Amino acid sequence: MAAAISAARCGAKAVLLEQNEKTGKKLFITGKGRCNLVNDCDTADFFDSVVSNPRFLYSAVYGYDHDAVKSFFESCGVPLKTERGGRAFPRSDHSSDILRALDEEMERLGVSVRLHSRVKEVLYQDGQAAGVLLSDGEKIPADAVIIATGGLSYPSTGSTGDGYRLAREAGHSIVPCVPSLVPFAVEEEEYHGLMGLSLRNVELTFYQGGKKLDSFFGEMLFTHYGISGPIVLTASARLARRLEKGPMVARLDLKPALSEKQLDQRICRDFEKYANRDFANSLSDLLPAKMIPLAIEKSGISPHEKVHDITKEQRKKLTALLKGLPMTMKRTGPYTEAVVTKGGVSTKEIDSSTMESKKKKGLYFAGEVIDVDAYTGGYNLQIAWSTGHLAGESAAMEG
Ligand SMILES: Cc1cc2nc3c(=O)[nH]c(=O)nc-3n(C[C@H](O)[C@H](O)[C@H](O)COP(=O)(O)OP(=O)(O)OC[C@H]3O[C@@H](n4cnc5c(N)ncnc54)[C@H](O)[C@@H]3O)c2cc1C
Repeated sequence: MAAAISAARCGAKAVLLEQNEKTGKKLFITGKGRCNLVNDCDTADFFDSVVSNPRFLYSAVYGYDHDAVKSFFESCGVPLKTERGGRAFPRSDHSSDILRALDEEMERLGVSVRLHSRVKEVLYQDGQAAGVLLSDGEKIPADAVIIATGGLSYPSTGSTGDGYRLAREAGHSIVPCVPSLVPFAVEEEEYHGLMGLSLRNVELTFYQGGKKLDSFFGEMLFTHYGISGPIVLTASARLARRLEKGPMVARLDLKPALSEKQLDQRICRDFEKYANRDFANSLSDLLPAKMIPLAIEKSGISPHEKVHDITKEQRKKLTALLKGLPMTMKRTGPYTEAVVTKGGVSTKEIDSSTMESKKKKGLYFAGEVIDVDAYTGGYNLQIAWSTGHLAGESAAMEG
């Protein structure tokens, strides 16, 4: 939509081909239905939040940054607001306002929006894009074609990966795709019972083959098959691809503000307080109720052992456990739960100053179909707006 609008604003006759019955199905569900459309950070800082190929985005994002995106929507009559962490939303908290602005602007500019129109093939003549073939057999001629088909995540919104096939047919390499901004599945089933438990101020450290990879501090959540929440999604953006090399172990530090010694002292105080109780009834000051049965089981201490009978070695083992509960990860959650797709059309084969294919003249790419992805916070939509804007502007020059 951004590409069609920018092409039409440059005077091109733009046709938007959408396979769904309506436009922007994914956009509608962004930001939990509120659409975190951009991040208000300095443009120079934007690139720190892009995980794959930030440099490729320089021209696109400097040419059409968060201010430009915000001005566009405000000029379309959508007041915006900025929340914690620079996240910008429509003031109404309704993504439908963003969608409506795009639909209305396309209509105003005379963009021909064709729904139920699935592109099957891009047509070429003399090595140059010359139009598309729809799945119903109709051919639509064009001077330029922009592929903005999204990735593989949330396929029910229409992003079923067609763009990768279309790109491959044009001679492009596709960097293998993996889900990103996605939960991790935890192999040990004992953690699955923690479903719904949310933890704040914890630290997750990931290891592979005994080597420390990365640490993340903040908030996380247990699900019916693994872990999710802000730090886990960020971890997936950095580490999901690592799973191709083998399993990872994440160690959960439940008390990162305390050193092992300080935590031991803290447990000693609790144990003094509850000296005559069963071990099972001594941890409620330290741990959320849902976590206690798991901690007891993993500690190897009988839940019925009297606290005053617990040995120093047993206590030390408990301390070490609470500083590093181990979880094994062999896979992420599925694409149906991934906010974005990592991988896609190789940035090496796209001209970053125009978004034009280096393989076929008149063929352009925009958005998540390209091998670019970022953290949560409005950065992924910024990528879509900026690359879409640049592709539209460049494609309009072909006419
Ligand atoms: C649940 C969820 C929440 C998110 N929240 C945010 C957020 O708040 N902020 C943020 O920055 N990012 C967010 N994202 C990520 C962001 O939505 C995507 O990165 C962005 O939508 C990508 O835009 P796109 O135009 O490249 O692809 P898409 O939005 O996926 O659009 C691609 C379109 O192409 C159509 N299409 C595909 N193949 C064909 C074909 N062969 N013929 C015709 N049409 C076709 C699809 O039907 C689809 O409508 C979220 C993602 C999800 C899943």
